[in-house]
Amino acid sequence: MTYKCSICGEVHDDLPDIGQDKPYYWFTVPDEERAEKTELTEDTCIIDNEDCFIRGVLHIPVNDYDRDFGFGVWISQKKDNFNTYLDNSDSNQIGPFFGWLSSELNYYEESTLNLKTMAHFIGDGQRPTIEVEPSNHPLATDQQNGITLAKAWEIAHFYLGDK
Ligand SMILES: [Zn+2]
Repeated sequence: MTYKCSICGEVHDDLPDIGQDKPYYWFTVPDEERAEKTELTEDTCIIDNEDCFIRGVLHIPVNDYDRDFGFGVWISQKKDNFNTYLDNSDSNQIGPFFGWLSSELNYYEESTLNLKTMAHFIGDGQRPTIEVEPSNHPLATDQQNGITLAKAWEIAHFYLGDK
């Protein structure tokens, strides 16, 4: 579905998803210590052998469009649940598991770090879906109420620059 963009005036094709390939806390480890202190894959991250994170997709409904907008984000997991996910990474029979949001989505002026979330595991080769606990935070209200396609493209432009 093409869309005449109110931000840049161009005609766009499909709405892109926006992803972060590392949790926020990975960046807080100094460069020279990362090799030793962090273990990073496309879907998991461990810092200091202690702090465990998983990558999921935070879906925001787009009210006038045929699919959701997806933010690839990271959340923390307690070790037991993290290990359960590692052992059953393609299962929909685990969880949902609690996690603190560990991605800073700086489109939102208010920090998104440490919002409460639940990870829902859907298997089928897909990353878990991340549900933000209802609150007054704009990210939580966007996920609850949905956004317009214009706003989805505004977010996309914020991250992608001219696209
Ligand atoms: Zn545009």
